[in-house]
Parts: sequence; structure tokens; C-alpha cells
Amino acid sequence: MSESWDIIIIGGGPAGLTAGLYSGRARRRTLMLEKAAVGGQAATTDHIENYPGFPDGVGGFELTQQMRSQAERFDVEIREITAVDSIEADGDDRLVVTESETFRSRAVIIASGAEPSTLGIPGEAELRGRGVSYCATCDGAFYRDLEVAVVGGGDSAIEEAVFLTKFASKVYVIHRRDELRAARILQERAFENPKIEIVWDSHLKKILGEGKVEEIVIENKNTHERKSIMLAGVFIYIGTVPNTTFCAGSISLDDRDYLVTDEKLETSMPGVFAAGDCRANLLKQVAVAVGEGALAAVEADKYIEEL
Ligand code: NAP
Repeated sequence: MSESWDIIIIGGGPAGLTAGLYSGRARRRTLMLEKAAVGGQAATTDHIENYPGFPDGVGGFELTQQMRSQAERFDVEIREITAVDSIEADGDDRLVVTESETFRSRAVIIASGAEPSTLGIPGEAELRGRGVSYCATCDGAFYRDLEVAVVGGGDSAIEEAVFLTKFASKVYVIHRRDELRAARILQERAFENPKIEIVWDSHLKKILGEGKVEEIVIENKNTHERKSIMLAGVFIYIGTVPNTTFCAGSISLDDRDYLVTDEKLETSMPGVFAAGDCRANLLKQVAVAVGEGALAAVEADKYIEEL
């Protein structure tokens, strides 16, 4: 058993970093556990233009690095871990169990975010990292003057399709319906962009290539007609799944595995709070994650006070 903390925050995206800032300023000994890079999904977003205070938008990486510095200024300790296995109650203490270590605290804030969903089609896993990507900001520049496809019709798909036109000569957007889900302003940008071709009512059926992506096969859902497109990259943006596997069996999740909380953001396990994209909330946005991170930390502080 290792050291004991007041508050442990699981996840270092905008929700976790804001929770850290508030918890640090409340002078609670705070440990943040992160299994990938601090900044979460927001850090892999090229340009965020709906986070207040930045009229010209701000880079996702830059914004989250500033959040990190601000949390660290108030003594939040950030540690890299492999993964959290479970959260357990031990009297008034909460135990955060990882593969190598168990951490003890009075309260826990889960801000573990979400990760990209996969299609589960032939070629997707085999060619991941060889033309199949879930992050245009990370990989877009590899596709200068090449043709690529984006799968999905939500905010992420359309935003990243527009971003990819900076590099690619053509961007196909493969969407399963005849209408996009993305915000109107993003739709307008896609419709106006001569490099974007939207392929409506279509499913991506397989991704082909010898060691790298070379071809995709799509199928029109109405006519069942199949068509092949030669291209170099496939970016999949079909939504996300919450990182909550470690909660299964001990903390209530909804039918899509998002954490269920009350209005104080407390989960079904007393002293364990949730904030941001891993929570069953109505809007997945940095602005929301930040607000929830603040609230979760304030409530965690009150919870410890009352113990
Ligand atoms: P999303 O809003 O859930 O959209 C997923 C898209 O993928 C939908 O168009 C959906 O089609 C499609 N899709 C889902 N499963 C599919 C499948 N199996 N095969 C083919 N297509 C499939 O996900 P997101 O775009 O990643 O956004 C997640 C959240 O983050 C949203 O709340 C979004 O508003 C937010 N976000 C906001 C911004 C921003 O404000 N700038 C940027 C990025 C993300 P249907 O439309 O037919 O369901």
C-alpha cells in the first residue's frame, strides 16, 4: 500500500485538470493519475473555437498545457500509470487500484474521458497506424496531396474533414445518412469546401491494402451497390466510448457505460465523483468538462470536510 492522499483524480483532460486546480487551491493533497498524455482528447484537437476567452480559437494542445501548468502551480502531483483496475471502499477511505500500486485517498474524482469508437470492419485493426487513424491532428500532415476519407457525420468528423483539407487533395466524408449531425456552422464549412465530397447514405464495409491503406469499399444502404475508392488514409470519427471499465460492478453506469451521478456529481459510491466526458451528461464539450471538474472538486472538498 502506498501513500495516502486527500483527493485522487483519475484522468488528466480538461475535467481532471480543472478538478486539480480547484482541489489544489482548496489545499487538498491531490494526486492525478493519467495513463496517456495529459490533456486528453482535447489535446489532440487542432483548433478549439468554442472555448470562451479565445476569440480567434486556441490549439487544443496549447490550451490543455496551460491548464496543466495552472493545476501544477497549486501543487497537484501528476503521475503516469498503466491503467486503473478498480476503485474500492475501505471504511472512509477510497482505494484506487492500479496494476502496480494501490493509492489511498479520502475522495476520488473520475475524469477518465472517452476514447474513439471503432467500426469493427475488415482491415480497420490490421491497418491501424498504417493509414487508419482516429486523430487527424496527429496524422493529417502525412497525407499531403493524397486522398483520404473521414467516416461519420458528427462535429468531430466534419471538423476534422475540414482540417484535413489543409493537407489532402481530396477528402471523402462517408456518412450513413442523408443529413449530417454536426453543428450548422461546421456543415456550412464542409459544403463550401471544394476538396470535400460527402458520400451520403453509405457504410464503409472494408479497408484494403498491403501494409498500408490503399483502397476502401463502401456500400450504399438504399441500393446496396458497392463502390471502391483508391485512397491513402481513413479517419474514423463515429463517436466515443467512455473509459469506465474499471468502474463496472462497483459504481453505477448507464446503459452506454457512462457514469451516473447526482447533481453534486457524486456517483453511486459515496466520496467518488465524476466529471466530463466519462459522465452521463448532455454535452461533450471542453467548456462543460471544465465546469464539471470545478463542481466535482468543490463537492469532494465538502465531502472530506464532513467526514
Ligand atoms: P457523435 O456526435 O456521436 O457523432 C458520431 C457520428 O458518427 C454520427 O454522425 C453518427 O451517425 C456516426 N456513426 C456512429 N456510429 C456509426 C457507425 N457504426 N457507422 C457509421 N457511422 C456511425 O460523435 P462525435 O462527432 O465524436 O462527437 C462526440 C461529442 O463531442 C458530441 O457531443 C459533439 O458535439 C462533441 N464535439 C464537439 C465539437 C465542437 O463543438 N467543436 C467537436 C468535436 C466533438 P448518425 O448521425 O447517423 O448517428
